[in-house]
Amino acid sequence: MNPALDAPAAHLVQVAVSTPAHSAVGDLLSYANPLPLAPGTLVRVPLGTREVLGVVWDAADAGPTLPPGMAPRAIAGVLPGIAPLDAAWRRLVAFTARYYQRALGEVALAALPPQLRELTAEQLARRLRRPAPALPPLPQAGEDGGDAAVGDIKLSADQESVTAQINAHPGPFLLFGSTGSGKTEVYLRSVQQALAASPTAQALVMVPEINLTPQLEARFRARFAPLYGEGAVVSLHSGMTNPQRLKSWLAAHSGQARIVLGTRMAIFASLPGLALIVVDEEHDASYKQQEGARYSARDLALWRGRDRGARVILGSATPSLESWHASSPASEGGPGRYQRLEMPGRIGAAELPRLRLIDMGQQPRGAVFAPPLVAAITERVERGEQCLVLLNRRGFAPVLHCHACGWKSDCPHCSAHQVFHKIDRTLRCHHCGAAQRVPRACPGCGNPDIAPVGRGTEQLEEQLQQLLRNVITPERRAARVARIDADTTKAKGALEEQLAQVHAGAVDVLVGTQMVAKGHDFRRITLVAAVQPDGALFSSDFRAPERLFARRMQAAGRAGRDAHYLATQQSRPELWLQTWHPEHAIFAALRRHDYPAFAAGQLTERREAGMPPFAHQALVRADARTQEVAQAFMQAAAEAARAAQLPGSDQVFLFPPVPLAVQRVANVERAQMLLESPNRGALQRFLAAWQPLLHAERSRHKGLVRWLVDVDPQGI
Ligand code: ADP
Ligand code: ZN
Ligand code: ZN
Repeated sequence: MNPALDAPAAHLVQVAVSTPAHSAVGDLLSYANPLPLAPGTLVRVPLGTREVLGVVWDAADAGPTLPPGMAPRAIAGVLPGIAPLDAAWRRLVAFTARYYQRALGEVALAALPPQLRELTAEQLARRLRRPAPALPPLPQAGEDGGDAAVGDIKLSADQESVTAQINAHPGPFLLFGSTGSGKTEVYLRSVQQALAASPTAQALVMVPEINLTPQLEARFRARFAPLYGEGAVVSLHSGMTNPQRLKSWLAAHSGQARIVLGTRMAIFASLPGLALIVVDEEHDASYKQQEGARYSARDLALWRGRDRGARVILGSATPSLESWHASSPASEGGPGRYQRLEMPGRIGAAELPRLRLIDMGQQPRGAVFAPPLVAAITERVERGEQCLVLLNRRGFAPVLHCHACGWKSDCPHCSAHQVFHKIDRTLRCHHCGAAQRVPRACPGCGNPDIAPVGRGTEQLEEQLQQLLRNVITPERRAARVARIDADTTKAKGALEEQLAQVHAGAVDVLVGTQMVAKGHDFRRITLVAAVQPDGALFSSDFRAPERLFARRMQAAGRAGRDAHYLATQQSRPELWLQTWHPEHAIFAALRRHDYPAFAAGQLTERREAGMPPFAHQALVRADARTQEVAQAFMQAAAEAARAAQLPGSDQVFLFPPVPLAVQRVANVERAQMLLESPNRGALQRFLAAWQPLLHAERSRHKGLVRWLVDVDPQGI
């Protein structure tokens, strides 16, 4: 029974629904409803044998009544109690779908909280009435240096001038501020100004990592709850439960929440009063989504801000070269598209860490830690200071090796080694997850002597425990070493708890991966050491130097953040780097904390080589049973493009397909093809016209598992 058939004058409604990836079904489906529905209305509609969530979309030229002889299915119901999503939100979704070459419905539905899709109308109605699910307790603002009410903090001269400029100009802004220069305070003030300007104004503040949100949320809540109530600040990130996410989303959508804090997914929050967007650590690669629509939340923030007339502030101590270039002033011949604001000094005149470079060629063979570094750590722990040791590789050792026959712990499913985890005696593949017990003897020759090669965080922790076993802190207890990485923080809340231990001073030396190097406001850490091997210095990815520089500066940024604390200690903050290539140019710039010089050098190279930001790129990725099939698919698609003389093709260069660096994962072969163009518009026109050809090509290649397009890819 289709009620639409009975209704004499049903209205035709266009609805965005999520159809299977790359399906032939168009972006919008037509449904019937007795009454017209406003665009943005959330509805439940039949799709095949299921009933799914959909969003009513702007039907530019669909007539108000059904054309004769056609009987679209009827809309099953309207989601009760939720106002339609506004036109600005729909424009954002439509742009994202177009720019990143995905279906509109897929993007629209992925941008909504999962529970909207899952709950029935009755459950949802109940949820809307029910009081909020309890949120996990936040760290006390104040523990970390005392964030006080607005009136109590006197802005530094830099903060003062930057805040005034943000007020006086439309932006977008690139806030280039050293680690510890007080960027967060600038965000707080800017948010406050934006909210004060209108009772419906809202602000969106994004950070790269889930684990940075609790500390940030505490600061924002301490500042704004007294002004706008407890419900004024909400978070949105994937670490939340689905009910919490729904709750935050609804609060933002209804305008009740004035400030949304979140990770990249928060860029799609419905914010009818959006007046300001902050993107902290804007250079961070995690703003790029790596599945589905591969959007850049930073780039979308700029688009959304411009579209809405909202201010946008990008902040970083080591901006992406794209943003640095875009903000180079017109007076110096640059594009001057963003306004660059600088805060070179640290709060309270705290020193930036000094670089201590250790030439590993001069150290005892096989040493994990150079003796001078061990001495420096010991000294600091004895004075009650904390140290942070970074290595971006978890496990005990990246590979086990038999010296007798050459056997290595290769993953049977991937072109990668299985990593040795000593704690539970397993070999684990970090690509496909395959795990097994460590063999007692070499599977190749029976040699019982198989040895770990290289090092991971587990090994650093063990070594440091050994090296510091006789070191006593001023509190007359033995030095404590702790480790934080993806393995220690699997349980919910584990990371918060471990970080709290560090903040409370219960840990003297913290060993960790990149996840602890970003953004945390540690108060008593005065020494940071990176013991990474030098791989990144010689990587084939043209962004590798930029990444390495940013990571090292950010690591340094964890040391000596508290001028008061430093004043009571004898030591200066230091960044120690162990390297086999101390002469490498990157270290000279790091030593001077000279990002502008580093960026200038990199931009010159990129300009000469015609690389981003002076060119625009896209990747086609294909996964297949064999490497040949993956490459043949792309080759054929490229030839089809040439034959069809697609729009923009005279300005788009297609490189030949190549295998990925890790070529095989979980028994699937992976390849990619790079597209490059000096003209973003040409590349966009080309990609849009190419989509149907790629679809058509797909079915001709047996063994092709999946393919995708990545616009503005981050890793090449
Ligand atoms: P960034 O984000 O630039 O690395 P933060 O915003 O975390 O730096 O600021 C570093 C520290 O300085 C924080 O503990 C913050 O509370 C403190 N701080 C910031 N601005 C001021 C100020 N004007 N007066 C005193 N302390 C400040
Ligand atoms: Zn062997
Ligand atoms: Zn594997």
